[in-house]
Amino acid sequence: MSFLKVNGLDASYGKIAAIRDISIEIEAGTIVTIIGPNGAGKSTFLKALMGLMPYKGHASFEGAELGRHEVQARVGKGIILVPETRELFSEMTVRDNLTLGSYSRRFQSRASIREDFDKVYSLFPRLAERAGQEAGTLSGGERQMLALGRALMARPKLLMLDEPSLGLAPIIVREIFQIIANLRSMNVGVLLVEQNARAALQTADFGYVLETGEIVMSGPAPDLLNHPRVMQTYLGGSTI
Ligand code: ATP
Repeated sequence: MSFLKVNGLDASYGKIAAIRDISIEIEAGTIVTIIGPNGAGKSTFLKALMGLMPYKGHASFEGAELGRHEVQARVGKGIILVPETRELFSEMTVRDNLTLGSYSRRFQSRASIREDFDKVYSLFPRLAERAGQEAGTLSGGERQMLALGRALMARPKLLMLDEPSLGLAPIIVREIFQIIANLRSMNVGVLLVEQNARAALQTADFGYVLETGEIVMSGPAPDLLNHPRVMQTYLGGSTI
């Protein structure tokens, strides 16, 4: 049984179809990426899976159809989205943003939440150093770390990341992607949507290419990295 299985998913804005007939699968503890140009429908797909917009077709998580569930219920099942905009509470501290990330687990023991603070601070030592700093004063890279850390505080089973590299310097992108790669050891399934095809394919196990709302290619990430069409269109025609 696949962890996340999506079959023939369509989503539209009014009469305009944004994504058509999308089918993908993810196993727990693996990283799957969807790469594609601006406007291909990547964010739309994540929004639909998160229950933020209606869709046709099937999406099941741990064997149960997701269709009827609202966002809150999906969060309860362990599905978490880190949107492109990161959506931090800028006037609150790093620590308080992380506490809010654990909101869906507020009835669990304080010890388990403290344990997760320790885990997030060890993954992102920079957040520990800045625990008392307002989120709005963090650098772009630190904000992305906080968005990821806050998502991890919810103990996600499936973590959906919308363009985590957006606006970040290459050295920070490498750091963030290294942390994403390490999520495998926590048995989190990651669905990574990216325009930075090289960084995404170097990190993922499997990839899909989305163009104008449709999946046009898929395969193990190393195969896509070496595929002439992917190299030409998404990797600037060069080898790594
Ligand atoms: P980017 O990488 O630029 O974020 P994307 O692949 O995530 O692009 P989407 O944001 O999913 O693409 O957009 C897919 C298509 O749907 C685009 O043509 C876009 O203009 C359209 N679209 C997105 N949001 C809306 C909306 N709220 N209303 C109408 N059309 C929309």
